[in-house]
Amino acid sequence: MSVLGDLELTTGLAPRSADEARRQVAAACRIVARYGHEDLTLGHVSVRGPGEHEVYIKAKGKALGEVTPDDVMLVRLDDPEGHLAPGAHLETVMHTETYRARPDVSAAIHTHAVYATALGATVSSLEYLSHDAVLFNDGVGLYNASVGMVMTRDDGRAVADALGGHRAVLLQNHGMLAVGEDIRWAVLSALTLERAVRVQVLASSLGEFTPIPAASVDEIHLTKYQSAFLDEYWSAWVRKLPSASEGRR
Ligand SMILES: [Zn+2]
Repeated sequence: MSVLGDLELTTGLAPRSADEARRQVAAACRIVARYGHEDLTLGHVSVRGPGEHEVYIKAKGKALGEVTPDDVMLVRLDDPEGHLAPGAHLETVMHTETYRARPDVSAAIHTHAVYATALGATVSSLEYLSHDAVLFNDGVGLYNASVGMVMTRDDGRAVADALGGHRAVLLQNHGMLAVGEDIRWAVLSALTLERAVRVQVLASSLGEFTPIPAASVDEIHLTKYQSAFLDEYWSAWVRKLPSASEGRR
């Protein structure tokens, strides 16, 4: 058994125990790290815990690609200062305010992924150039109230406002926040946004855009992004984690 435990069994269900929540967060940290989201020891993943008002989130210290369940901490939503718990990342409040604003969200990922950060440093927006982009068929938010770090409850609320009902928000000159109804959807949002922007960057160097017609965006979204497919994606991501496969040898 790997350090992450048997993540095949956790699928996308809400974590049934603190241990499962910690393993989901650790696995998601390692997955996004493999796909271009790592930056020093920065960026964080969180999930709502099994208990009311509980959020499990990566603590400060490790790089995303080396997070274990022991590097995940509990933050409480019924404590207005919960995001200031010892060991918490400075921008933990981005998660706690998002959970307060979005009851439908049960997992969140903040990273400084390079392509998404680049798009957030321009006046351009996400174009529907690929099937990746149509995951965000209602667009993505833009947080531009500040270009600094998101450390106060007011900042966190402003990020949640900019996120609105979307799956992701670009933080101007900073990075992204991607969310989901569970850990699988949050990882899919983070990875797919970065891929979509990467395609847009490449396309912009090749010629004029020929975007997917608006009428096809929702149709492709419904066909491609079905909840029934998510377990398959999660299993593939987990199988490809070096530590997980080592544990099964
Ligand atoms: Zn940040």
